[in-house]
Amino acid sequence: MTIPEKFGENVFNDAVQKETLPNEVYKALRATIEAGKPLDVSIAGAVASAMKKWAVSKGATHYTHWFQPLTGLTAEKHDGFIEPEGDKAIMRFAGKNLIVGEPDASSFPSGGSRATYMARGYTAWDPTSPAFVKEGTLYIPTIFVSYTGETLDNKAPLLRSMTALDKQAKRVLKLFGIECKKVATTVGSEQEYFLITEEAYLKRKDVQLTGRTLFGAPAARGQELEDQYFGVIKTKVGEFMRDLDEQLWSYGIYSKTKHNEVAPAQHEMAPVFGTTNVAVDGNMLTMEIMKKVAQKHGLVCLLHEKPFEGINGSGKHNNWSMSTDKGLNLLDPGPAPEKNLLFKLVLAAVIKAVDDYQGILRASVASAGNDHRLGANEAPPAIISVYLGDQLGALVDCIVKGKSYVHEKPAPASIGVPESPIFPKDATDRNRTSPFAFTGNKFEFRMVGSQANVAEANIVLNTIVADAFEQFANELEGKPDFEKAAEALIKRELKAHYRIIFNLDGYGPDWEPEAAKRGLLNHKNTADAVPVFYEKSNVDVFVKQSVFTEAEAIARADIRLENYIKTINIEALTMIEMAKRDIIPTVSAFVAKLCKNVTSKQAVCDCVPVNAEKGLIMRLAELNDKASAAVAKLEADLKAIDHSDIKSASQAMAHIVIPDMAEVRALVDEMETLTSSDYWPYPTYFDLLYSVK
Ligand code: ADP
Ligand code: MG
Repeated sequence: MTIPEKFGENVFNDAVQKETLPNEVYKALRATIEAGKPLDVSIAGAVASAMKKWAVSKGATHYTHWFQPLTGLTAEKHDGFIEPEGDKAIMRFAGKNLIVGEPDASSFPSGGSRATYMARGYTAWDPTSPAFVKEGTLYIPTIFVSYTGETLDNKAPLLRSMTALDKQAKRVLKLFGIECKKVATTVGSEQEYFLITEEAYLKRKDVQLTGRTLFGAPAARGQELEDQYFGVIKTKVGEFMRDLDEQLWSYGIYSKTKHNEVAPAQHEMAPVFGTTNVAVDGNMLTMEIMKKVAQKHGLVCLLHEKPFEGINGSGKHNNWSMSTDKGLNLLDPGPAPEKNLLFKLVLAAVIKAVDDYQGILRASVASAGNDHRLGANEAPPAIISVYLGDQLGALVDCIVKGKSYVHEKPAPASIGVPESPIFPKDATDRNRTSPFAFTGNKFEFRMVGSQANVAEANIVLNTIVADAFEQFANELEGKPDFEKAAEALIKRELKAHYRIIFNLDGYGPDWEPEAAKRGLLNHKNTADAVPVFYEKSNVDVFVKQSVFTEAEAIARADIRLENYIKTINIEALTMIEMAKRDIIPTVSAFVAKLCKNVTSKQAVCDCVPVNAEKGLIMRLAELNDKASAAVAKLEADLKAIDHSDIKSASQAMAHIVIPDMAEVRALVDEMETLTSSDYWPYPTYFDLLYSVK
């Protein structure tokens, strides 16, 4: 089969719907999917029956509502199609089973918004994201809400935020005489990951329990030669990538780009963008499939943001834009952006939104894992800023200063090699150091962590831009001279939010003090970043845009902090166990062995030199004592945390436990470099990073 034939073979997509559904039903379903019309529930029975028939022909025996609880992962509970009829079995799937499910909600995070005795939860079909068959089960993308209607997942608020943006964007477009059925946000998320061998993985408790190495001295070779990025793909990795592509294509995911990333053993996959909720589902499925395919190849795919210290971590660039159902991209500047009033207005709205709500945007990507990247010198800094590039930057400068803008076409690039073509240069260079960069016709939000559900960042982005659109529309609707009023508004807003624009090196030493002068937030860890979510102005924007109720917004922040506390707690406990049960005894045994060597050598003659052993004995014994004390301190500090208050507990994790862990690690990593490799209980960084051939 060719790729176009294989593509989407496991998906109940438009083509299959058209083929298998009665015409009226098909039309009603498409109207919901494409134009956002409310779902006509009377069609559910017909859709369910066609879906089941198709799924069974693909080998499915079960179905599951597939949802995204606030664990950050997906959840599924499989039910068989099987039902008794007399003493025979038949396969049945009723409309009501498609539309709602009723999983017990009490064991999923709710941020205290739902008491355990009110355990009822519902999953409800999201018809805008296609169902698919995987490993014998029909997967139906659903939202997840409590009995009282509070959202318990990432999909429901994401869909609400898309509705909010749709509503306000259409008001803005109407000012320009543009009518459309729907404005959808679009997302393409580039996924970074590491591959290590399963053999090494199974010997590392830390990687198994926490997704990252808690110990490990650097290998002699890291990423300093800069030879891994876009380097030749190793055979085993290439096989994995091929297999991954085929699987993703079969699930209708347009996996497009694959390459080696900066760090050894690090790689990336980028799909073609799509409507946000479908893209989010696609990314959740991608992460799961990456792990499964790796396993088939004797590998383990690490999605953690920082599996290894001293080399780059992984992120997920969230490319984001907005398009009408007729394909008009609202962030497309066109050939003459200075004359494109709609583009300028949309740009001003995004800049205003990002400046006004930088705190919640930062908080939306905060996690224990991502804390190792943001602000470290490899990922965008923890400060939110917007990069526009030379051309747009100059345009915004002119608007703010009231000067007229002369559009300079970038000169075509000539390479000085007569045989090679002369090509037009892009209007914007790339700035990899910016957390929120304009890249041609979209913004790229680079702060998202590699294992995060991208819905979280997009809920915030959609909500805050919808809010800016709403304010703009309120002001401009009914203005007699609309264009003049719009130009004035654009100038005023760009001036007011000029501080968020930063077109220079975000990794440079000057940026932090400069950002502080501008009054920009700089929250370096989750404990410091999340509390802005509780601030009234931030809660209000969610409430106003009908994305979260006040209780839901607060519950989200609580869950984020709880998750942070639990993650660090698991990491600390894992570290304590590894140190106490494996590392400290190993070093002690190795020192004892060295001592024996000294005695036996000296038994031969006093004159046999023993300086090598003695030096090692002294240093290792000293380090091992210190490590043991550092572990004891970590244990005591961990025990002392008052878990009744999540804000203070998260502060203690960030400012006491994490520094304690760094201390333990530094001592252990030095011991690793001094202990015989015959003794060391774990695979080293060399084993982990260089074993996949
Ligand atoms: P770049 O080279 O600037 O990173 P690419 O064309 O390689 O741009 O795209 C990177 C990612 O951005 C891809 O996943 C792509 O599908 C996505 N993308 C492109 N256009 C849009 C858009 N309008 N909205 C959302 N994502 C987009
Ligand atoms: Mg990119």
